[in-house]
Amino acid sequence: MTIPHELVVAIDVGGTRLKGALVDAAAHRSHEENRPTPRGKSPDAVVDAIVAFATELTERGSRAGGTVAAAGVVVPGLIDESKGVALLSANLGWRDLPLRSMIESRLPLPLVFGQDIRAGGLAEFRLGAARGAGTALFVPVGTGIGAAMFVEGRPMSGGGLAGEIGHVAVDPAGAPCGCGRRGCLETVASAAAVMRRYTERTGRAASGGEIARLAGSGDPDARTVWDEAVDALAAVLATCTTLLAPEVIVLGGGLAESGGLLLDPLRGALDARLTFERRPRLARAELGDRAGALGAALLAWERLR
Ligand SMILES: [Zn+2]
Repeated sequence: MTIPHELVVAIDVGGTRLKGALVDAAAHRSHEENRPTPRGKSPDAVVDAIVAFATELTERGSRAGGTVAAAGVVVPGLIDESKGVALLSANLGWRDLPLRSMIESRLPLPLVFGQDIRAGGLAEFRLGAARGAGTALFVPVGTGIGAAMFVEGRPMSGGGLAGEIGHVAVDPAGAPCGCGRRGCLETVASAAAVMRRYTERTGRAASGGEIARLAGSGDPDARTVWDEAVDALAAVLATCTTLLAPEVIVLGGGLAESGGLLLDPLRGALDARLTFERRPRLARAELGDRAGALGAALLAWERLR
């Protein structure tokens, strides 16, 4: 007699893609698959896509001799995990949406519902660049900037409102931000901001990675834009360090793919701002864009245990 291989279904809902996986108790992914997120459709269309995807992954797991015991679904934005509500998800156009119950009513599996950045952070904290740390920050720097905080081994979510590091103001007279304030970190240091600011100076379009490389090779416009982004990030991470004393800060998202072009100057700029504080280790995320789905699986396994 063979012992059924227990699995969970994990789905990371992004603005453009649904990333799905079947994951066992040792966090091994036996299958991974991406699909487009229905764009410009009602929340129901997205829920339909999530339910269909989870159902098909469950069937695939069964055909492979496994038993799917739970599902983890994580979504972007301000997410209250305890209530199962998407408070605000700008890129999907959701507001106060009872997403957990919408999915749960149609999916015959125990469901854990979470936020993508906190789930990605959980994966980095347990399995990736922050493993072994007690207090750590995970900071994805992509189109926006967010943070997942683990304080003495526990995730901090603040009813879905904590960790909005991208909306810490760094320049009160700066560019308007989508949140209604001016000069938020996101308006200076996100990949989108770096690209916008480079184009404003030069009239040319370039990706975040190209701007990082141009800055590294001494292009003065790229250098100015990149240095301002690094300084703004360092200022906010220094405040986080003073407040939380993290042992490690993990940088993820598109801009962290620039590796040393971001981490080396950021380490110097952060170091220059700290005095008595313990210097956190700055590390590049290890799990890439799979972190969210892996974190969703970890949440589902935590529920089962
Ligand atoms: Zn803002």
